[in-house]
Amino acid sequence: MQNEQLVKDLQAILGSAKVLSEKLDLLSYSYDSSFMARNNRFVPDVVITPTSTEEVSKVMKYAFNNNISVTPRGAGSGETCGSLAIQGGIVMDLATWDTIEEIDAENMQVQMRPGVIHAELNKRLAEYGLFFPPDPGSSQMCTVGGMVANNSSGLRAVKYGTTEQYVLGLEVVLPNGEVIVTGGVNCRAIKNVSGLNLTKLFVGSEGTLGIITKIRLRLWPKPKARGILMAVFNDLEQAPQAVLDVYKGGILPSGIEILDSSAIKAVNEYKPDINLPNAEAILLYELDGNPASVKWEGEEVSRIVGLLAANVEWSTDPQRMSELWQGRAVTATAAARVREDGSRIFAGEDISIPLNKVTESLKKIKEIGKKYGIGVVNYGHIGDGNVHTAPVINPEDPEEVKLGAALADEIHLLAIAMGGVTTGEHGVGAVRSQYARKEHGAALDVMQSIKRTLDPKNIMNPGKLLPEEGNKHGTSTSSGS
Ligand SMILES: Cc1cc2nc3c(=O)[nH]c(=O)nc-3n(C[C@H](O)[C@H](O)[C@H](O)COP(=O)(O)OP(=O)(O)OC[C@H]3O[C@@H](n4cnc5c(N)ncnc54)[C@H](O)[C@@H]3O)c2cc1C
Repeated sequence: MQNEQLVKDLQAILGSAKVLSEKLDLLSYSYDSSFMARNNRFVPDVVITPTSTEEVSKVMKYAFNNNISVTPRGAGSGETCGSLAIQGGIVMDLATWDTIEEIDAENMQVQMRPGVIHAELNKRLAEYGLFFPPDPGSSQMCTVGGMVANNSSGLRAVKYGTTEQYVLGLEVVLPNGEVIVTGGVNCRAIKNVSGLNLTKLFVGSEGTLGIITKIRLRLWPKPKARGILMAVFNDLEQAPQAVLDVYKGGILPSGIEILDSSAIKAVNEYKPDINLPNAEAILLYELDGNPASVKWEGEEVSRIVGLLAANVEWSTDPQRMSELWQGRAVTATAAARVREDGSRIFAGEDISIPLNKVTESLKKIKEIGKKYGIGVVNYGHIGDGNVHTAPVINPEDPEEVKLGAALADEIHLLAIAMGGVTTGEHGVGAVRSQYARKEHGAALDVMQSIKRTLDPKNIMNPGKLLPEEGNKHGTSTSSGS
């Protein structure tokens, strides 16, 4: 179909104001933060901004009947090309549809449309003493719809889990335009074991099975107190032990973060006034809860970790906590500055590995970096084994771009070999589907058949999450990383 006709048809469904087709508009929707998007432009044919279930349903019926691809998009803050129309077609931008429909404080639930920004939601919930705990670093921009579609989380996943633990039900427009509600029509119960769990099927489906148009979340009471503990280690091996020992001591911090020597060096070069101690590793523990329990836990964690660490500092003073946290807060930015002509690339950047393999993995990643002559800065959520790696290359140098892709491939394969997964946070998108067979085995066939059933014409975000059918073995080539 000619673009002109496509635009006209969509204007007839939605009105002109909700259909963007100017070249500049389309270009603005052609990239995200991924390495793959850095080297390619995925320009959609048209962008639309629907703001009702009826509009979404009408567009999906039209797309289904005319075999047109549709890629849903929240804030476009993803790292995997997830919200990019890599096969062209329609980008459906849901970010402007940002109504919080109901805060049901008595049942500790909230119901909203997909475009609500995460930080805004928590600001509103704080008025009721409630919060939605998953906390991606992109909180100020990402949408709750994007979080549900990506099953996003952040540094507090150790204690609070990921988005999936909070989703009670969804309204979803299927690829053929049909509208369903998962989790029970009108159901407000917090516990629900009735029927197949379709809610979980759509959480983390990365926009490949339908458009999420309404979200019902359960909420938690907002903790009243918080404290930060910084521990410095002269031996990297001690870091995972210091995590385990705290768990064995019966304490579950809200987050446990690691900076290895590469991250410490990057932070000190970027902001010398932060002046982190030169060490093999620094761990930051965050504890939250009621004031008395946080005080006791802080003292207990200091005692336990103090048996291994060279130095430990614990604080509940807001000013000191923010000073202790500074190094972690700037790590991602600092990584990009370790080379004057370098940029941090988002490739092989969020593997998730078993806790007892963290040290070995960090060492191996350093070796892989050396092999390719690429500096890699390591940090992340050691509390749940979700390691962030930040390869730094000159993206203008085609040779380095190739090496960067090969390095990312090795990091992904390392994660699988260690009994982990290629992504603990950022998702699969277009850049990790090549590992699906290795990661899921025969379960991949079941995933493919679910996709075929719900989306028989493969119009819903094609080229994402699952490898193209017929590729029985998957590949480990570095293309796309
Ligand atoms: C600085 C920075 C820090 C980050 N930190 C984290 C982190 O700590 N943890 C983490 O998990 N991620 C993180 N991310 C990645 C990303 O921001 C999150 O996964 C985020 O939740 C994506 O939300 P979004 O609204 O930007 O979605 P998008 O990027 O627009 O979309 C993400 C995926 O969801 C699909 N989608 C979006 N909306 C819908 C919908 N309504 N229905 C169906 N499918 C939909 C898209 O098709 C795409 O596949 C970070 C990104 C940046 C740039």
